[in-house]
Amino acid sequence: MEEKKVALITGASKGIGAAIAKRLAKDGFNLVLGCSNKNSLEKDLKEVEKECLVYGVEVLCACFDVSNFSECSKMVELVREKFKTIDVLVNNAGITKDGLLARMTEEDFDKVSLVNFKGVFNMTRLVSAVMLKQKSGRIINISSVVGLKGNAGQFNYCACKAGVIGMTKSAAKELGKRGILVNAIAPGFITTNMTQTINEDLKEKIKENIVLKRFGRPDEIASVASFLAGKDSSYVTGQVIVVDGCLLI
Ligand code: NAP
Repeated sequence: MEEKKVALITGASKGIGAAIAKRLAKDGFNLVLGCSNKNSLEKDLKEVEKECLVYGVEVLCACFDVSNFSECSKMVELVREKFKTIDVLVNNAGITKDGLLARMTEEDFDKVSLVNFKGVFNMTRLVSAVMLKQKSGRIINISSVVGLKGNAGQFNYCACKAGVIGMTKSAAKELGKRGILVNAIAPGFITTNMTQTINEDLKEKIKENIVLKRFGRPDEIASVASFLAGKDSSYVTGQVIVVDGCLLI
């Protein structure tokens, strides 16, 4: 029987990351699932783990902060000890600290940058070293449509998500010849905790600008991640796949 491949997903305790975890479990991947705080680990991530185990895969759950290089490094070592390989990395962990530029604090800029931008560097730098030795791998970065079009009130977040696209294209060019494919998904508005804070009036206004007239579901991002992690995308790299119900064009 073929060995199961291993996928490491950051921010897997809820929302899009949890949906990707469940989808990749269904696809037959052993999983390493991360989140940032202990409460999430005990409550949300263990629930996600339970749903993944149904598919007969192995799951390692861990709490580590993607913005902390040494925590990420320890985590990657742990994964290598347990699973030996890392075939797929999904850089999904993300936060927002929205506000108009005139009032945005340095702290809010730094915090968002550390998680959404430096976190992608940390994990990509460490996991690509493993993939380079294997001469194979897939890296999937979760960007956002606002990284392509900008958004008032999200100067910090949009900058990071645009930066993630730059990292995706650069990594694709650097790593492709060693069998590592790197792509980004740019979701539009997806129903998760992150978008729960948007008030109902604004949600209705946003929907008017979406051709499909609704927010997306996390599983609608997970199915694209499944494609990028699987055999059918073997000639796809350096791409940004927009999944937004037709909001951007
Ligand atoms: P979410 O429901 O708020 O989940 C965020 C996840 O990231 C949680 O698992 C959280 O862990 C984890 N996380 C936060 N800070 C972390 C850190 N420092 N280290 C490790 N993990 C951390 O968010 P979501 O909506 O699913 O978003 C997932 C990704 O999609 C993000 O990158 C987001 O920017 C992007 N995105 C979302 C939308 C949308 O409309 N929802 C649209 C475009 C792009 P804890 O549970 O421990 O906090």
